[in-house]
Amino acid sequence: MAVMESPAKDARAREFLSVPRKMLINGKWVDSISGKTFAVYNPATGEELAQVAEGDKADIDLAVKAARKAFDSGPWSKTPPNVRGKLLWKLSELIEKHARSFAELETLDNGKALTISGAVDVPGAVEMFQYMAGWATKIEGRTLNLSSPGFHAYTRREPVGVVGQIIPWNFPLLMAAWKLAPALAVGCTVVLKPAEQTPLTALLLGELIQEAGFPDGVVNIVTGFGETAGAALSGHDDVDKVAFTGSTEVGKIILRAASGNLKKVSLELGGKSPNVIFADADIPAAIAGSAMGIFFNQGQVCCAGSRLYVEKKVFDTVVGALSDAAKDIKLAPGMDPSCQMGPLVSQEQLDRVTRMVEGGKKAGAKATVGGEPCGGEGYFYKPTILIDTKPDMEVVKDEIFGPVLTAIPFTDPNDIAVEANNTIYGLAAGVWTRDVSKAHQMAAKIKAGTVWVNCYNVFDSSMPFGGYKQSGIGREMGPDVLELYTETKSVCIGGM
Ligand code: NAP
Ligand code: MG
Repeated sequence: MAVMESPAKDARAREFLSVPRKMLINGKWVDSISGKTFAVYNPATGEELAQVAEGDKADIDLAVKAARKAFDSGPWSKTPPNVRGKLLWKLSELIEKHARSFAELETLDNGKALTISGAVDVPGAVEMFQYMAGWATKIEGRTLNLSSPGFHAYTRREPVGVVGQIIPWNFPLLMAAWKLAPALAVGCTVVLKPAEQTPLTALLLGELIQEAGFPDGVVNIVTGFGETAGAALSGHDDVDKVAFTGSTEVGKIILRAASGNLKKVSLELGGKSPNVIFADADIPAAIAGSAMGIFFNQGQVCCAGSRLYVEKKVFDTVVGALSDAAKDIKLAPGMDPSCQMGPLVSQEQLDRVTRMVEGGKKAGAKATVGGEPCGGEGYFYKPTILIDTKPDMEVVKDEIFGPVLTAIPFTDPNDIAVEANNTIYGLAAGVWTRDVSKAHQMAAKIKAGTVWVNCYNVFDSSMPFGGYKQSGIGREMGPDVLELYTETKSVCIGGM
């Protein structure tokens, strides 16, 4: 076999890609029990990037056993909160130290621009571990004010136990951080299953978790496929909770799998988020923000502002300017410094986006820009804006998860919240207006976990994120996420 030049520039990333990657179980890097591996690909070229261990049910069993032991009787069960906080902070510093390696691996694995991996994904993960490090020492119960005489009662907040975490490919490192940080802050142990398309940065993170000094078995990382490893984890009787981010379809499968032992479930699922531009908005800001709202990360964002509603008076101006902006976006491999938009994650995703847009065009929608794959090497799809859509078209109703915007005019500002809410999803929404009352009225009317006013895609570790309706169950980030990983116990003392 010819030795290919590594696509990575950073020395650690190159070294990381040079050998098949093992899984982290009970503090050891191990092959899968079956001995099987699978390939991960560079979406910019379609070439194989690395081989990764293919874990399945047997490996999940070992990982859960390790996590159980670490939770019940290992050193983690006796690790005080301030030490948990220190370990999380140490991990954040190690990620910062290896920021370049993470950014390159993320770009090569997922396709996104290196400028984005370096400016969004890696610092976002660092910030999440730091934010949650602070919470480790602040998990408290309450003293209760009972009406029953003769008793004294209080609550304890305890870690829920062994947690299974299943994450997607669109923000691989960041999703690992969103999941791991709160679970570890409160004292849970974890079995993490990264997406099959993008397991690399989670595995590098595993190396740093060990370097930081987390005890063996506290974090286990099993790479493999959803239908095998993922299903075994979500259905496991010795797992106390499962946290999932991904498609609504798989979210429902997870919920059913979890019913066997009634493990706790939190789900962060798909969206078809409305983004509403009123005529009284700062129009240039609305155009720039809405372009970013749909095209960021190639549109592979669960909260992408994919349904744009524009007040009729400014519709042509807005759609014209957005189409020009879309035309100007430089598509290139993520490692290319000039890249503004990389390829989609996989051939499968490229096919899905292509099929959905074709379907939309056949049903009567018109592309003002894009509307087709780029062709040639890699999984590139042109930034696309569709007009002349109808509310019942698939492109308006279903999550495309690509750089595809449907732009729809409206005339009555009083009715637009109803149309914005006409979806099975409820993850996020955008509102652009200079009218403060209108902004607050819209924020109250829209059924979504996040409403951005005069901005889009703003995330902060302190700001809860999650979905109404079929966009999910539970809120990640902020103090709210701590609820997902703790149980409340009432202790009642008699004879007082
Ligand atoms: P997915 O199937 O929902 O994948 C998410 C995670 O769940 C992956 O780790 C996946 O493993 C795992 N999984 C799959 N089937 C499972 C099962 N039966 N039991 C347990 N875990 C399972 O998403 P996808 O197939 O990568 O993408 C399909 C569509 O989902 C996209 O086109 C997009 O519309 C949507 N999506 C949404 C988000 C979001 O953040 N809301 C993220 C990604 C994708 P494998 O990687 O092995 O499949
Ligand atoms: Mg899948």
